[in-house]
Amino acid sequence: MPDGSTPLPADDDAPLYAARRKVYPRAVRGHIRRIKWAVLILLLGIYYLVPWLRWDRGPGVPNQAVLADVQNARLFFFWIEIWPQEIYFLTGVLILGAIGLFAATSLFGRIWCGFTCPQTVWTDLFMWVERLIEGDRNARIRRDGAPPSAARTRLKLMKHAAWLLIAAATGGAWIMYFQDAPTVTRAIVTGRASAETYFFFALFTATTYVLAGFAREQVCTYMCPWPRFQGAMLDDDSLVVTYRAWRGEPRGKAKAMGVGDCVDCFACVHVCPTGIDIRDGQQMECIGCGLCVDACDDVMRKLKRPEGLIAFETLANLAASGAAAAPFPPGPARQQAGMAARRHMHLIRPRTIMYAAVLGAVLAVMLGAFLLRTTVSLAALAERAPPYVLLSDGSVRNAYTLKLIDKRREARRYTLAIDGLPGARLVVQDAETAADGRPVLVSVPDGVGAFRALVAVPPTEALPANTPIRLRLLDGEGRAVASADSAFLAPAP
Ligand code: SF4
Ligand code: SF4
Repeated sequence: MPDGSTPLPADDDAPLYAARRKVYPRAVRGHIRRIKWAVLILLLGIYYLVPWLRWDRGPGVPNQAVLADVQNARLFFFWIEIWPQEIYFLTGVLILGAIGLFAATSLFGRIWCGFTCPQTVWTDLFMWVERLIEGDRNARIRRDGAPPSAARTRLKLMKHAAWLLIAAATGGAWIMYFQDAPTVTRAIVTGRASAETYFFFALFTATTYVLAGFAREQVCTYMCPWPRFQGAMLDDDSLVVTYRAWRGEPRGKAKAMGVGDCVDCFACVHVCPTGIDIRDGQQMECIGCGLCVDACDDVMRKLKRPEGLIAFETLANLAASGAAAAPFPPGPARQQAGMAARRHMHLIRPRTIMYAAVLGAVLAVMLGAFLLRTTVSLAALAERAPPYVLLSDGSVRNAYTLKLIDKRREARRYTLAIDGLPGARLVVQDAETAADGRPVLVSVPDGVGAFRALVAVPPTEALPANTPIRLRLLDGEGRAVASADSAFLAPAP
């Protein structure tokens, strides 16, 4: 085949399993490539450097700005600290990410796949290293096809060593999001890290090495579910990478008469990281990276023809241009008619309005929950074995386990009050009593304190079998800062 790839068998003979055809993407220059480099540097910079950012939270608390402290069940993100009870914030962030992705896909097609997906970013980095060491497409094809030699082995070893270094840095950085970065780095390097740390370090290193070095486009084509259902988010007004067949066809040599603008040079195919030909139309394998746009623009510039034979375009515009250009023979008139038929992309459509509305609603709920989150909370768990105790003086007593969560860094004193039971006596085991007779609870700084409360009602009070009660936590000024609801059980009257 002119592009140097293996011809595909006819459909009838197609085997159930097709061996991978190795893709040798060529280097390309252009404005989309520059954008991709900028995004790659930004994302990798964030990934590798964020664990090293420090954030002073006071003594006894991790000073890493972003840390998932699994041992203490905390998530630290700069000034925000998420407790296990607040894991819904994480759920909210994931929902926001998913809806944001749907909205971005609906507007700009596979922008996630082509520019920001980790698989794309690391594969791009690995390909850059490969080109740096082994040369560009033609040199690699030639060398791989030649008999083994010492020079080839040396280059391959250098490439794999560089890939492994990047993979190790990637696996190591992942661990640093779960353990203090300087400490775990020292431990890994000096051989003093735990077995689990080495296991996950090796696992993420191997995953990066295999996925970015070997599996590459196969991850997108066979392993990732996203290309399968992203079609549901696309419509005729979404931007996708398209070949303007109305302008390019029929293909032919640059100087041939009566042919379109495509000179069949295969530059767009040779730069494609998934090895496809965008001129065959929309394909699931196309990750929307836009490198074929740069490659074709370069060819058009050299031929002194307008750029944009391959472009980010909506399918609606592609159809409109095709219809408008059809009556004209290949040439400037056809080009003009096709481009004039295009209309501005519709950003505001029912689908994008819906995504924006859901995004706004989730954001508002999360913001509200975040602003209203409390630093102190109280939970009361009634002990029901037995459900109540009859004391010798005829009083009825219930016991409760109290959990006092205080997210502040210093111990605080609170008093406990009870509502709903007139005449009840409230005692907390091993706790002091305040001047007003209420039990005093001292919180565990940045932790959970457990207490046992006993509530007794004298026989003089008429009691139903089940009375709802509320335990209130009062601060020094007597203001309720938290409360917990429960029930007081007594013998049936
Ligand atoms: S790079 Fe452009 S001119 Fe060359 S084959 Fe692809 S579409 Fe045709
Ligand atoms: S066809 Fe173009 S946009 Fe699609 S993956 Fe290949 S180079 Fe990227």
